[in-house]
Amino acid sequence: MPYIKNEHKQNASSHAVVIGSSITGLLTARILVEHFDFVTIVERDELPELPEFRQGVPQTHHVHILLTQGQRILEQLFPGIKAQLAEAGAPSVDWVRDLITLNMFGWVSRTSSELVTYTCSRVFLEWLIRQRLSNYQNLEFVTSTLFKGLLVNTKNQVSGVKLHCKNSALDTELTADLVVDASGRNSQLPKFLEEIGYQAPETTIINSFLGYSTCWYEVPDEFCASWKALLVAAKPPDSLRGGILYPVEGNRWAITLAGMSKDYPPTDADGFLEFARSLRSPIIYDAIKNAKPISPVYGYRRTENCWRHYEKLSRLPDGVVAIGDAVCAFNPIYGQGMTTAAVSALELSRCLKEQFKNSPRNVKGFTLKFQKRLAKILQTPWLMATGEDFRYETTEGGKADKITQLMQIYIDKILELSVSDSDISKRFAEVAHMIKTPNTLFALTVLSKVLRSSLKFRSVEAPK
Ligand SMILES: Cc1cc2nc3c(=O)[nH]c(=O)nc-3n(C[C@H](O)[C@H](O)[C@H](O)COP(=O)(O)OP(=O)(O)OC[C@H]3O[C@@H](n4cnc5c(N)ncnc54)[C@H](O)[C@@H]3O)c2cc1C
Repeated sequence: MPYIKNEHKQNASSHAVVIGSSITGLLTARILVEHFDFVTIVERDELPELPEFRQGVPQTHHVHILLTQGQRILEQLFPGIKAQLAEAGAPSVDWVRDLITLNMFGWVSRTSSELVTYTCSRVFLEWLIRQRLSNYQNLEFVTSTLFKGLLVNTKNQVSGVKLHCKNSALDTELTADLVVDASGRNSQLPKFLEEIGYQAPETTIINSFLGYSTCWYEVPDEFCASWKALLVAAKPPDSLRGGILYPVEGNRWAITLAGMSKDYPPTDADGFLEFARSLRSPIIYDAIKNAKPISPVYGYRRTENCWRHYEKLSRLPDGVVAIGDAVCAFNPIYGQGMTTAAVSALELSRCLKEQFKNSPRNVKGFTLKFQKRLAKILQTPWLMATGEDFRYETTEGGKADKITQLMQIYIDKILELSVSDSDISKRFAEVAHMIKTPNTLFALTVLSKVLRSSLKFRSVEAPK
């Protein structure tokens, strides 16, 4: 077996391999070190020593909001990580008090809440988790190495992975009791399953043709305001454009502008500013027009919702599971990807605990069981993302059914109420941050407010 790097691995009697060292791969590896003697993370990129961009995760140039639920799970898995973020200069943001939001109906009512997170760049977050993981003696990173197929044993179970080392140009193999595919949106697992005689999962794709452009700015010295972050939402069908100003470590703002239905924001400096000015409110434009840009404008358009339905297959080999964007990638505008990955990693932990309770190392029946449990977790964020995407006429891949249409009407009422009612805006934020389930929006107190709301709402002046 290649890569015998240290005595922990030599003495290991159980071994798990994770493909991909992005957020899902890292969080999954953190779970697996508790269930396996040794864990190997295989990554196609060389991993930078500093918090820097790498090719394998091109989306990291763009705003990455880690929702409150995601940050709470991160703290659970890596105690003290919030303090490390604060120490590195990540601003603390109360998402109901410090964020100014223009939703479809007006300026959202603000109040103090417990939805407080440290906001940081995506490259810093990934680097910090990597640092914390490097403290585990029973874990190694194998970099510049491509996952290119599955090994199977005589029972047709997965027994490891075929790899290609980019530096030596050599093919090699790595045996494992469990292989976890966390290789993201472009996962090749369906193809690799077919190669060993299994079916590829059916895939649902729902595309609202969203495009991003992002530019990073130095926070101006004279900056002083009652807000820390800004969000201007689109209002279909009249406005397909939105934007966010997101404060991060290093006294910087990341500005992501977004256009739905192929109304893509430009990637040149002047066009970027002009697009910012064309949003439903110029509040983001006003904040950045005299600020110093410190990056080029980066574009991104691979944003469709894509769900590979492993849970619907009747036959899957034991010894391999898929997780994260490799199973279900969301339209990123709702900021759910990393938090869903964190929730999924905890579910993997629960499933492994149950599986190994009586028979450690025995992965028989585990694959299908896990994929079905994962599918239940994915359902809510999927419905939230696709339900919103169906508001756009040009969205491809399906149409809003009757229930989704009713939900849209109900959510509109909630959004309308959140302009004047801070309790409602807090409740909505708790659901958006995955702290509470959407059911809480149907609690009696909310329902009665919705029913009573025959009031006419009007937008107020933009807060200063
Ligand atoms: C523009 C954009 C903005 C986003 N904004 C947010 C946000 O605000 N909040 C949020 O929570 N989420 C956001 N997301 C989603 C988020 O980026 C992902 O959900 C998150 O990165 C978790 O994905 P992942 O780890 O499953 O896959 P990825 O991040 O895609 O990582 C896959 C990893 O696998 C490696 N890999 C791939 N193939 C191979 C192979 N064959 N062999 C070895 N290694 C391989 C890659 O190099 C990479 O390291 C955004 C996504 C996009 C596109």
